[in-house]
Amino acid sequence: LVSRKKHPENTVVDLKGVKMGDGQQRLVMGPCAVESYEQVLTVAKALKDRGIHVLRGGAFKPRTSPYDFQGLGVEGLKILKQVADELDMVVISEIVSPSDVEVGAEYLDVIQIGARNMQNFELLKAAGSVQKPVLLKRGLSATISEFIHAAEYVVSKGNTNLMLCERGIRTFETATRNTLDISAVPILKQETHLPVLVDVTHSTGRRDLLLPAAKAALAIGADAVMAEVHPDPAVALSDSAQQMDIPQFHAFIDELQASGLYKG
Ligand code: PEP
Ligand code: MN
Repeated sequence: LVSRKKHPENTVVDLKGVKMGDGQQRLVMGPCAVESYEQVLTVAKALKDRGIHVLRGGAFKPRTSPYDFQGLGVEGLKILKQVADELDMVVISEIVSPSDVEVGAEYLDVIQIGARNMQNFELLKAAGSVQKPVLLKRGLSATISEFIHAAEYVVSKGNTNLMLCERGIRTFETATRNTLDISAVPILKQETHLPVLVDVTHSTGRRDLLLPAAKAALAIGADAVMAEVHPDPAVALSDSAQQMDIPQFHAFIDELQASGLYKG
């Protein structure tokens, strides 16, 4: 169902009027984790000022250590919805359990399935059973073929509003947190008809690489670039090494616009 051979035209996923996959390259930004209403509002206002309408933020955080901040859960979803409603934005957040898909669908515009859950087949089927757009991230060690099969799980349940996200894979290289597999973008676009995003934050894990990675993603044809922004990354409860602060965010947008690659 996701194959370009069977369905030659691009799928355009409509997020309350913000179209993903329509040829316009977009940005999806926001904090790693929802920490408070004020924190999300501060970031969202900065995004809105720069014409970015898609806000991300984690409420259920799949952390490597059980002792790290696990997210605010449903309370975090409520904060995201409140801010999105106030600023007329679209909101994306990760759901980690099949039993939370329904609550996610209630508060969110897009249900994200994270890298660690790319082959959580029960979660894929649950997300495929609601009519809410889904953003599926590539697994940490997943081949492109496995990624496409995971996408098929969602669509085979009836939900065709699916977007894919390359977020780096695990290799022998340690200079970056993961290795951004940039060639996955044109491969996924050739093999499927789905919108393809690139997450530059989790792939590189390095603030100094966000801009060049975003330029590469836009140049190679990604439908959107995802990156994290936090009002004060030094005190962020997760991913403090790679989130941009607000001045860095403005510089990032300025540079992307100056490069001519980003038209937004
Ligand atoms: C995220 O986007 O918040 C996240 C945890 O990313 P990933 O699943 O790609 O690690
Ligand atoms: Mn993060």
